[in-house]
Amino acid sequence: MHLSTFDILRCPYCGSRLDLVTSSFYEKDGDEIQTGILGCQCCVFPIVDGIPVMHLQPHATAAKDLVEQRQPLKARRAMFGLDEAPGAAERVDSLIASASATYRDIVEAFGEHLEGGYFLYRFADPTFIVGHALVRAVAGTVLRDGGRAVDVCGGSGHLTRSLTGLGSETPVLADLYYAKVWLGRRFTAPGCEPVCCDGNSPMPFARGAFRFAMCSDAFMYIWTKRQFVLDLLRVIDGNTPAAAMISHTHNQCTWTPSHGQPLTPDGYRNLFETLTPHVFGESGLFADVVSGGPLNLSRVDSEKTLEAEQALAIIASTDPAVFAAHPLEPPPGRPMGEFHVNPLYTAVDDAAGSTSARFRLTFPSEDYEQEYGACRRYLPDEVTIARADLAALAAGRVPPDAAVLNDLVRRRVVVDLPLRYGV
Ligand SMILES: [Zn+2]
Repeated sequence: MHLSTFDILRCPYCGSRLDLVTSSFYEKDGDEIQTGILGCQCCVFPIVDGIPVMHLQPHATAAKDLVEQRQPLKARRAMFGLDEAPGAAERVDSLIASASATYRDIVEAFGEHLEGGYFLYRFADPTFIVGHALVRAVAGTVLRDGGRAVDVCGGSGHLTRSLTGLGSETPVLADLYYAKVWLGRRFTAPGCEPVCCDGNSPMPFARGAFRFAMCSDAFMYIWTKRQFVLDLLRVIDGNTPAAAMISHTHNQCTWTPSHGQPLTPDGYRNLFETLTPHVFGESGLFADVVSGGPLNLSRVDSEKTLEAEQALAIIASTDPAVFAAHPLEPPPGRPMGEFHVNPLYTAVDDAAGSTSARFRLTFPSEDYEQEYGACRRYLPDEVTIARADLAALAAGRVPPDAAVLNDLVRRRVVVDLPLRYGV
């Protein structure tokens, strides 16, 4: 945890500032606290492997005791939930110590409970491409003069990665699952400031700490929705420009896989007591992205349209520049991580000596196809890529005049994946 994080961190329960308890065990490296105990006026919280754990669930309490007993490694195992599986704990520890271990290696060592395996395809799925376009448009607008963003319930930071380069400070990635924010900091959104906290409790942040606060693909699983939204508005309060955004939340009016406890469009609107939000159907935004833009946030979807939508995006902002048509950014010429043929493609004709390779779209399961099959709108069933283009991708460059290659990146046939992602 960077020392500057004290300025935005608050106890979720008593609201007071936190201090490092210097009478307890702690480890510091320059401006980063690796291990320690944070104290407020009502309780104490551990910092485990650089991540403040701002809740009081059993793993957190066990980890706090282990930090006090000068056992940082065991505290991390407790937060990973591996304390009762000694074989797995050692495997994970040795992977973490290895510079060549991938995101996939570590997720697999955690066992099946983390993300199911679909994370490999996350950067090209229909939910992600809309979320990414929304983040670049909305956060890009309100962070134009600086400021900071927070991705609440951000999991392992796939959309936190989309915040890279926006604003003047590193984004905060907050999630209840310690292992996910740990993975986010190391692989998916390197450099983000991770915080482990409970979305069903008040957020552990100061009023006005951010200019952009978001929650994507998670809000339907939050029980304390009213508290959550008022808190999302609290953490951006007093800043101009600023925006709060809930994207990909399911709709009570329609059925969806992994449904959660969604509300109706009007039910969501009612949660925003102090700032009237704009509610968008995701399918319209998806069509904007697939057609190459612009992402039209000046649209007003009718109630009838919204009721038929599987997922909604809700944006509250006092900045009229948010509710405009936003051109999509051109495909990057250089990857943030590395260019890779989308892992949904398998090579079907890859004979040595040929000048091109042919790939076929293959879904990992019927469940995946049911939930994310809309990716067929931008991913062709088959694609042939010239070897020269594959070599350019491997070298990490897409020249601006390489029209075919740029189109493959734009359509997500080629994706920009984090380094050591494990594809
Ligand atoms: Zn407190």
